[in-house]
Amino acid sequence: MRRRALTGIMRGRMSTPVDSTEPIERARAHRVHDVVIVGAGPAGSSLATLLAQRGVDVVVLEKEHFPRFHIGESLLPAGCVLHERLGLEPDPDVFVWKGGAEFRCEATGRRQVFRFDEALPGPPRSAWQVERATFDTALRDCAVRAGAVVRHGEKVRGVAIDGDRARVTTDSGEVHARYLVDATGQDRLLARKARAVVPYKRFGKAAVFTHFDGLSRDALDEIGPGNEIRVLVRPGGWGWAIPLPGARLSVGIVTQAQGVDEGLFDAAFADSPIVRAWTAGAERRETRVVRNFSYKNSAPHGARYAAIGDAACFLDPVFSSGVALAMIAAEQLALRLVPALAAGTEADPALAAGVSAHLERGYATFGSLIDRFYNSRFADTVFLSDSEDSLMRRGVVSLLGGDAWRDDNPFQDMLLRARRRPAPGEAAAS
Ligand SMILES: Cc1cc2nc3c(=O)[nH]c(=O)nc-3n(C[C@H](O)[C@H](O)[C@H](O)COP(=O)(O)OP(=O)(O)OC[C@H]3O[C@@H](n4cnc5c(N)ncnc54)[C@H](O)[C@@H]3O)c2cc1C
Repeated sequence: MRRRALTGIMRGRMSTPVDSTEPIERARAHRVHDVVIVGAGPAGSSLATLLAQRGVDVVVLEKEHFPRFHIGESLLPAGCVLHERLGLEPDPDVFVWKGGAEFRCEATGRRQVFRFDEALPGPPRSAWQVERATFDTALRDCAVRAGAVVRHGEKVRGVAIDGDRARVTTDSGEVHARYLVDATGQDRLLARKARAVVPYKRFGKAAVFTHFDGLSRDALDEIGPGNEIRVLVRPGGWGWAIPLPGARLSVGIVTQAQGVDEGLFDAAFADSPIVRAWTAGAERRETRVVRNFSYKNSAPHGARYAAIGDAACFLDPVFSSGVALAMIAAEQLALRLVPALAAGTEADPALAAGVSAHLERGYATFGSLIDRFYNSRFADTVFLSDSEDSLMRRGVVSLLGGDAWRDDNPFQDMLLRARRRPAPGEAAAS
């Protein structure tokens, strides 16, 4: 995109977290890109592709070298709908076709399968389970093919917004752009600097997970052909089993307990017949722990910047909504940023307000669902029981597919109408 001459509108410093590392006069000599994106996960790479496809001069700074491990392997139809526009062609030998989600309580033997083809009319009827190392590399390649510059090994250490540009500092120097996007995921670059991280206290607190390689033929037969994500409902939390390409299985446990370590994995799955049977004879890889992943960024946008994906908000892994919401946020921001850059109005602090407003419907819906999953009998009554109301059930399936932006879903209406009010003295979200 041809850059308009820098007019110096809004020359005063913004109230963004600022680490000024270089005198402004020296900085003026830099080339000014249209957009700098920090982070090449699904949010950053999707946005880079959508912008570059429209002629925007975009540079992405990513601290890691790809491929690299990342958690978040079960995708939803509402995010997959974007793949074609991004130029991503899922290869069924590299991604595992996913037909839906199964909820199962091993203690009672109750289980329910929700197939995406039962959903209300709309997005695709299936999704994928992916190794994020492969998926994120493929998304990054889409961005490069579209014309974005992606620089790996570039950890952003400082950001500053001056009147007419954003300045981003890495160990190798500075990058200047008319607009800055924080897509740093759980690192939440801007939210941390602005002390704008607001934790959600009623969701999962920690996850412990690993991969198993070399599943047996019997296990693969039992897991297929729908390859549903298995959500194992347990007291105080839940577990997942996600089939991955190459006869692999991702298994994890999420708990509301504090202070857990790798040992939780063995404790939780010692009594799980399904995990023991499916992983018999398979080789267990490294066990990892993540904690305190649920929060929102209370300052997700401002003059010349926006945060998208996990850098703006992450709720909880239970409904696999993270990647879909990150990609939808990228799409929403691209819609607003392209015309603003063309018109030279990208400094408008409200530019990304519509992105936050749009995403709020998804966060509110999933937030209400997740709160009930952990803090009420919902898992029992909705996810482990047969529904007699087929429209309600189709509504549940639509949400399990990430389709939270329709106005004919009675289940979603119920969730949003009856968003749980905190009990006296209790903070619902934070
Ligand atoms: C236990 C667990 C299980 C999950 N399971 C699922 C699931 O099954 N399905 C699902 O959809 N979601 C899942 N999620 C959520 C999912 O992982 C995230 O929502 C998703 O990855 C968000 O994408 P993103 O692009 O915003 O951030 P990320 O994917 O985290 O990408 C951020 C990128 O920014 C880079 N970066 C960070 N800081 C800097 C810096 N300072 N400079 C340069 N680069 C930087 C990182 O290296 C990274 O590549 C899960 C999350 C957890 C915690």
